[in-house]
Amino acid sequence: MEKIKMTTPLVEMDGDEMTRILWQDIKDILLTPFIDLKTEYYDLGLPHREETGDQVTVDAAQATKKYGVAVKCATITPNAQRVEEYKLSQMWKSPNGTIRAILDGTVFRAPIMVKGINPVVKNWQAPITIARHAYGDVYKSTEYRVPGAGTAELVFTAADGTEQRQTIHQFQGPGVLQGQYNLDSSITSFARSCFQYALDTKQDLWFSTKDTISKQYDHTFKDIFADLYEAEYKEKFEAAGITYFYTLIDDAVARVIRSKGGFIWACKNYDGDVMSDMVSTAFGSLAMMTSVLVSPEGNYEYEAAHGTVTQHYYRHLRGEQVSTNPMATLFAWTGALAKRGELDNIPALTDFAHKLEKAAVDTIESGTMTGDLAGLWEGEVPACKVTGREFLEAIRQRVEAM
Ligand code: NAP
Ligand code: MG
Repeated sequence: MEKIKMTTPLVEMDGDEMTRILWQDIKDILLTPFIDLKTEYYDLGLPHREETGDQVTVDAAQATKKYGVAVKCATITPNAQRVEEYKLSQMWKSPNGTIRAILDGTVFRAPIMVKGINPVVKNWQAPITIARHAYGDVYKSTEYRVPGAGTAELVFTAADGTEQRQTIHQFQGPGVLQGQYNLDSSITSFARSCFQYALDTKQDLWFSTKDTISKQYDHTFKDIFADLYEAEYKEKFEAAGITYFYTLIDDAVARVIRSKGGFIWACKNYDGDVMSDMVSTAFGSLAMMTSVLVSPEGNYEYEAAHGTVTQHYYRHLRGEQVSTNPMATLFAWTGALAKRGELDNIPALTDFAHKLEKAAVDTIESGTMTGDLAGLWEGEVPACKVTGREFLEAIRQRVEAM
């Protein structure tokens, strides 16, 4: 069989630990035998981030702006223990944070649903996509440990030198302080990506904040969404038969649990971080969650929602057989390849990506799966638990049969 040709390279960001091993397996078993894979390779593994002073992360993000589509492996975000373990010269920032700060935009996370793995919330029949604002708030905050009594003030010095002052709190003793910000431009592009993604995928869009308590900060988010909707999207939504709906975050949480699924839930940065883990776990497993960062300029970065699966990696290093689920990492690749095919007008590439996804879902539905899913399996045939590599090989057999 002739291999599928690509014209533009994908930006390939390699990562760490167990996911780095799965990354290579996916390429060897499912991609390079069928595709003349063209990538521009960036090694975001922690040792190479250390060697380059983290420049490689910045370069990879810049390349994503150049080529438009990237695929990223999970990476270690260093903490004190990792600094020791990897003998780091400093505690490098989260690569995802660095990339999001450069690309801006919104992260869309959706579960991969398969028959036989039932959501914990039994009325959820269709995926719930979480749209997470990927800029600012607590992720770009300035924090201060208040040592003792004193006055904390919020001071804004305008470009013309005039000052605005507000007292935050008169401290009688030690405490903590945090300064957060966001930008109208970023909130607008967040809103725009959400409205656009809702139209692309023909799903209702929900948005929630805590505007009753945060009367300036969160209220600005609410207003920007409402104004943009009225000005540019209302008619398009009506024509598509979908709705935009704003509610308070606590009300949204209750409604989400009672819903049937099948909509997009737009969340501020922190809410999206927390809620996407809750939603993905309730749908089955973090390893069954896809994630894509969509920038306002239309750049796409596909990744898995989970981390580097450190505990499995340590067991792998001790020579044990581990059963790590490669689904989310595989779907990062297929998402990126399908998008590349769409942008470059190579239908064979997009079709192949969708075939791989179908073969992967069929493999699970026929009973072959990794340990994380075997524990949740309620299918008719008994679950056959395999390693990540064996799972990929089972997918390959199906692809070849197709
Ligand atoms: P994790 O890698 O997501 O793993 C947490 C646990 O979830 C695992 O121990 C495993 O549970 C289960 N799990 C996650 N993915 C799985 C998969 N594909 N197959 C089977 N089970 C899976 O999170 P973590 O252990 O908190 O973090 C590890 C490293 O990843 C950290 O250094 C962190 O900085 C990094 N991280 C990176 C990203 C990213 O790059 N996007 C995101 C989050 C964390 P069992 O052990 O019970 O089997
Ligand atoms: Mg998180």
